[in-house]
Amino acid sequence: MRLSGVGSVAWHDDAACAHPRNAHMRKFFFSKMSKEKYMARNLCYTCPVRRQCLQWALDNKQIDGVWGGKDEGELRRALSVSYEGQEVRKKRFPNCPFCGARPNKLSVRTADAPGGGRWTTVKIVKCEECNFDWTSRTSANAVEAYIFAQETKKAKIEKAKEKKNKKSKKKRASVERKITK
Ligand code: SF4
Ligand SMILES: [Zn+2]
Repeated sequence: MRLSGVGSVAWHDDAACAHPRNAHMRKFFFSKMSKEKYMARNLCYTCPVRRQCLQWALDNKQIDGVWGGKDEGELRRALSVSYEGQEVRKKRFPNCPFCGARPNKLSVRTADAPGGGRWTTVKIVKCEECNFDWTSRTSANAVEAYIFAQETKKAKIEKAKEKKNKKSKKKRASVERKITK
């Protein structure tokens, strides 16, 4: 079975890649050839459990192979991690891995980490377009960075507008003064 690492999960039996008629495609999911990866991803988009599969892959930090229609590059981008699974802080923000919505449709909240561990809290990223959410401290950081960058940009634009308004007010006042003289 293709999803050998998944263990016992309710959605496993409905997986398109687990169906005997697709047995010949199972090797494509970990292929390095883009044509084969493309075929694997296409099969995912016909799969009735794509959402659950993608959720599982992100929750379990699966950064190799195709899962839920996403290849390893896209999964790593959603989690903001490198090839080795280490956090990366690039100026590249994740889109929703399920529906592809832009980062301005993603929101972040903090929740208690199940079982504690290195961190006592985790960040949950949620897409308002499709309601998909995933846990990732690292991609949450990226989304927060994106929101911060957007707010900074907006504030800069507002400041520039204000400055321009002040300047034109001053100019108008001086013209009016000249006329009344
Ligand atoms: S989404 Fe793709 S990898 Fe996941 S169970 Fe379905 S076919 Fe298999
Ligand atoms: Zn989405």
